[in-house]
Amino acid sequence: MKFLVLSTLALSASAFSPTAFAPRTTSTSLSARTPFIAGNWKMNPGTKNEAIALGKEIASSFSDSTPCEVALFAPYPFLDATVGAVGSSGVKIGAEMAFVEEKGAFTAAVSVSMIKSLGCNWALAGHSERRCLFGETDEDINKQVLNLLNHDVGCILCIGETQAEYEQGLVGPICTTQLKKNLLGVTAEQMANVVIAYEPVWAIGTGLTCPASEAQDVHATCRGVLADMYGAAIADTVRIQYGGSVTPETVDELMAKPDIDGALVGGASLVAEKFSRIINFKV
Ligand code: PEP
Repeated sequence: MKFLVLSTLALSASAFSPTAFAPRTTSTSLSARTPFIAGNWKMNPGTKNEAIALGKEIASSFSDSTPCEVALFAPYPFLDATVGAVGSSGVKIGAEMAFVEEKGAFTAAVSVSMIKSLGCNWALAGHSERRCLFGETDEDINKQVLNLLNHDVGCILCIGETQAEYEQGLVGPICTTQLKKNLLGVTAEQMANVVIAYEPVWAIGTGLTCPASEAQDVHATCRGVLADMYGAAIADTVRIQYGGSVTPETVDELMAKPDIDGALVGGASLVAEKFSRIINFKV
């Protein structure tokens, strides 16, 4: 297992302690949630032909025995070709972000209607790279989430703490704040189209994976927050993915946890063999 050795980051032991989280867990291990694993290609691969080849290879490893729903989030210029590459396999294709305006003078922006017209019915919102590198605020992300849902497009809302926040034991408060701010105005009915991705920022692209038991604690806390917002019955239907250096070696233990309903996968989703093993996880 490539799990994080905590001492390598010199992180405080309390950061992962359940006592650092609000005691409001309402998770259930009796859920009927369909697992959902998604690949986030970010600004990869380099060419359309590579995207087509990758999409085809991943789609060929998705079968009736695959134990989860699968989606690939591809760069805008490759969306159309990737939709074609996965064909009728059942693998869904989504955008990595959709701007909140419908059309007009917004150079380089891409609207929800544009991605929908390509056959994409999913988009990410709030990925930490959008928050950290592109300055998207909780309010921006809230607008994106509402806009996607109002267009009947599914949304994977990414939340998670930075390393500094983690070291200060702020995992619970950060996730709680992001959920409340980013889901402001989202109705209980619309939550059927929302997936949460808990992605500790320090684990993204670093090779450091949050230990499965600690990720489970955070997921249960997030479900408790959703129960406060929408009631326990709705909270128990919302899928919560884990994201952060998920690999074929770590996926099985993560997916065995009752509140971990899937994964958002960056680096390993660019290697068909690895992603194929991840989506065909074993519990
Ligand atoms: C991500 O980009 O959402 C992600 C989790 O990346 P990686 O799997 O490479 O850490």
